[in-house]
Amino acid sequence: MNIIKKETYSFQSEVKELLHLMIHSLYSNKEIFLRELISNASDAIDKLRFESISSPELFNETPKIQISINKSQRTLIINDNGIGMTRKDIIENLGTIAKSGTKTFLKSLKSKKNNIENELIGQFGVGFYSSFIVSDKVLVRTKFAGNKSNDGILWESSGEGEYNIENITKKTQGTEITLFLKQEEDEFLETWKIKNIVNKYSDHITVPVEIQIYDEKNKTYLWEQINKAQALWTKNKSAISKKEYQEFYKYLTHDQNNPITWSHNHVEGNHEYISLLYIPEKAAWDIWNRENKHGLKLYVKRVYIMDNSQEFLPNYLRFIRGIIDSNSLPLNISREILQNNSITQNLKKALTKRSLKMLDKLSKNDHEKYQSFWKEFGLVLKEGPAEDNENLNLIANLLRFTSTKNNSSEQKISLKQYISNMIEKQEKIYYITADSYISAKNSPHLELFNKKNIDVLLLSDRIDEWMMNYLVEFEGRKFQSISKEDTSLNKFIKDKPIEKEETSKETVNFLNKVKKVLGDKVKSVRLTNRLTDTPCIVLSDSNEMSTQMAKLFTAAGQSVPELKYIFEINLKHELIKKICKISDSKIFEEWIKLLLDQSLLAEKGNLDNPHEFISRMNKLFIKL
Ligand code: ADP
Ligand code: MG
Repeated sequence: MNIIKKETYSFQSEVKELLHLMIHSLYSNKEIFLRELISNASDAIDKLRFESISSPELFNETPKIQISINKSQRTLIINDNGIGMTRKDIIENLGTIAKSGTKTFLKSLKSKKNNIENELIGQFGVGFYSSFIVSDKVLVRTKFAGNKSNDGILWESSGEGEYNIENITKKTQGTEITLFLKQEEDEFLETWKIKNIVNKYSDHITVPVEIQIYDEKNKTYLWEQINKAQALWTKNKSAISKKEYQEFYKYLTHDQNNPITWSHNHVEGNHEYISLLYIPEKAAWDIWNRENKHGLKLYVKRVYIMDNSQEFLPNYLRFIRGIIDSNSLPLNISREILQNNSITQNLKKALTKRSLKMLDKLSKNDHEKYQSFWKEFGLVLKEGPAEDNENLNLIANLLRFTSTKNNSSEQKISLKQYISNMIEKQEKIYYITADSYISAKNSPHLELFNKKNIDVLLLSDRIDEWMMNYLVEFEGRKFQSISKEDTSLNKFIKDKPIEKEETSKETVNFLNKVKKVLGDKVKSVRLTNRLTDTPCIVLSDSNEMSTQMAKLFTAAGQSVPELKYIFEINLKHELIKKICKISDSKIFEEWIKLLLDQSLLAEKGNLDNPHEFISRMNKLFIKL
């Protein structure tokens, strides 16, 4: 079975790109390589612990991570007695990157000048390859736990595009990584320096990390434990400092930035568990990639079970990072069982509430931080109303909007604030959806509202129309789209000149002429009470699909029925007054069609036949 041979492989192209980027852009953060290697070693021991639940014989030594320095050879060695790797594992793990979307992400980084470092380390996670920031050459000696022979694998590379693999003799299970440090990286040959880095990044690793030191008195080498090796989350809240929480977060997520806030809870009773949830400052690079998993790190009775368990939080909270350590789940739980487990469901409910409360608290206690959270994750949270009806009110309370009175595109108004600013007699929460902030802000639909000093929420994120389908009311106030027909607006118009005029013979005549011209192009034609500066407008019927919704469907490739609008005319407008007087029926017809197209353009942002619109306009210009 064991054929001794050396083979050369080429790195996957994403790996080559990553290596290149890293070596050329991470020099000010090079020490993180040690954090990455220790974190891998600790993961490997966690995996072994997990495997040994079903195969206890695998776990035959006290788990530990050992670091040794050889000054004369200029090497730094990190050794673990974890799960190890087979030949196949090593090719998959150290020759490729499995995360989908990596290529696009790396490409986007290359075009940037600044912040490459933060994005690469903080959001992507640089992993094992970061060893090449400080090394000319890296050797990995490994043997898979459970392999009873003395046959191990050696992986060797100088990080330039290729790596070699050959069979070696290795007695112990686990992985040993040898870094041949670059000429200028002498500092990593100093014991104090290594201790410092471990203290900084890896204090919370549950496995002991030891460093080899020389005992002058007895003239021997011995191992000294550097870290505390206690799971942070098991400690009492009052015994954990802010700094410790932050460092644990960084260790857990590989993020460079501090978390915005966190929530740590020991829960007793039926389902005993500990949770520690963090809100990051920056979104992970793949937050929009549905294929990549987002979720909590799961422990059962302190034993690591799996990363990225998505079962404990809804999708719209996928930016939350952290751990859940359950006492009630079985140790041998699999992803499949997890998905159909009532304990999981209960935990999910509890953690969702906890997360929403943590956000609520943040929004109340630190306005500035909440704003920066909203900027980063608001779009994700906006998926909430559709996904989680049970917590609709809590979520709605966390949403932030811009509005006509806000005078900036920054979304910072809460629904509570909106309601407290409502004018007398106002009962509904008014909003408009559009493709952009500018187009929402300048919509003719707003004219009446501006005149009456009624604030209107301006919604222009792609998801907004979708979200508004699920937001029916908030604290007893109904949401109302102002581009839809709404008879309740009449109460804001004190004198109702429209009705009087509508009955005048002249007006009836005019409206009939317009109806005749437009035929079934519109649903109905009537006079408006909402406009001041615009001659006419189109409205959607209150129970019909809105313009923005139709756009969403069309963009998703679905067919939508043709929208028919209510066409409203502003008799007080100069242009309408002029058109009323036109006796030539051909020219009158051209004007009316032009007006409808204008209104449609304002409503939809485009026209089915822009050419016809332009040539009609030009024709009428010439007549003038
Ligand atoms: P990540 O840890 O995010 O998966 P890395 O680049 O750090 O990415 O590591 C890649 C993979 O290599 C790991 O997922 C693991 O499968 C394997 N690996 C790395 N170091 C070790 C180790 N010390 N023992 C066993 N497997 C390891
Ligand atoms: Mg790693």
